[in-house]
Amino acid sequence: MRGMSDKVIPLADHRYAATVPVIPAFAAPASGRALDRLDRPLRDLRISVTDRCNFRCGYCMPKEVFDKNYQFLPHSSLLSFEEIERVARLFVSHGVHKIRLTGGEPLLRKNLEVLVEMLAKLRTPEGEALDLTLTTNGSVLAKKVHALKDAGLKRVTVSLDALDDAIFRRMNDADFPVADVLRGIEAAERVGLGPIKVNMVVQRGTNDHEIVSMARHFKGTPIVLRFIEYMDVGATNGWRMDEVMPSSEVLARIAQTFPIEAMASNDVGETAARWRYRDGSGEIGVISSVTQAFCHDCNRARLSTEGKLFLCLFATHGHDLRALLRGNFSDPQISAAISHIWQGRDDRYSELRGELQAAPVPGERRVEMHYIGG
Ligand code: SAM
Ligand code: SF4
Ligand code: SF4
Repeated sequence: MRGMSDKVIPLADHRYAATVPVIPAFAAPASGRALDRLDRPLRDLRISVTDRCNFRCGYCMPKEVFDKNYQFLPHSSLLSFEEIERVARLFVSHGVHKIRLTGGEPLLRKNLEVLVEMLAKLRTPEGEALDLTLTTNGSVLAKKVHALKDAGLKRVTVSLDALDDAIFRRMNDADFPVADVLRGIEAAERVGLGPIKVNMVVQRGTNDHEIVSMARHFKGTPIVLRFIEYMDVGATNGWRMDEVMPSSEVLARIAQTFPIEAMASNDVGETAARWRYRDGSGEIGVISSVTQAFCHDCNRARLSTEGKLFLCLFATHGHDLRALLRGNFSDPQISAAISHIWQGRDDRYSELRGELQAAPVPGERRVEMHYIGG
């Protein structure tokens, strides 16, 4: 409920449903330990810096939907670097330790290294630098590694779904060669943007026969290959459960060729379960978003390209922080609004997937991955 002194600002964009945040009349200063309704802290902020991409991966931006007539956001809708830095600073004051830049393809955002430099200067309430990272399809990475490293980026995660060039070109649906992405990964290694992670979305019948060759390629290197279950994110990818390969099956396939064993996790809220080769030649991970929900310690918030805050990858509505950033509001007011939003969070889609799929709410549209990032 809105209090007497709560302010209401008109919505600027109706692409996805978003409410204008409430500014609480009385707000304590940020404690660095914001908790949601399920006692989950706010530790990880993913910022989508563009909704555009030069790939058309079928599981994310299928060509039939994202064609030449698709209306991407106009430049004026995007948060500016100054707006992103301001809101990121407020999130950090509530406990965010890790910021991941994503998209769309984040390296398509002009002068991204300028934003990286601004974010690299932020400090947690304990005075520590952030874990500042970026997820990219790797297509232009080789050209950008020096600028990103110099700007203060710590590490990169590169998405790569196949080593076989024909399969890779088919999956990115932009006829992009795998060799260029591999060159990007090598360049990132050379400048020290590590530890590098490589993400492979496994789609049964499309690239599952690439699992073992991908494992073989990165075995014996410091790069951690992670297998991601194909998710029912958004509303355009035509997701079907029979195309999901459960992580248990991925691990079984790898174990037939390379003996592996489970490792302890690094951190609460870590999305990947960690495994290593028994011969000590490296680590792999599995992200089982579909078959083994990890909502109970999900500490991630997502900021869309146009400044809407989403509390879950499967959310159907966001919170329009841009309206506050572009309104006449002070940092303490916006900070209080963020804290209020997080305190009200009870999202746990993956744990409830079955129930929610059985009873969808008419008119609700799930947000697309390229718009809020992975
Ligand atoms: N364009 C960049 C990239 O591909 O790395 C960053 C944005 S992309 C949306 C972030 C991550 O989401 C990628 O690793 C991608 O593979 C993953 N992703 C996208 N759609 C997915 C889906 N339906 N299921 C699982 N992962 C998905
Ligand atoms: Fe682009 Fe990344 Fe989505 Fe592929 S997964 S279409 S590279 S945003
Ligand atoms: Fe977090 Fe939502 Fe994914 Fe659960 S479904 S892990 S709450 S993003």
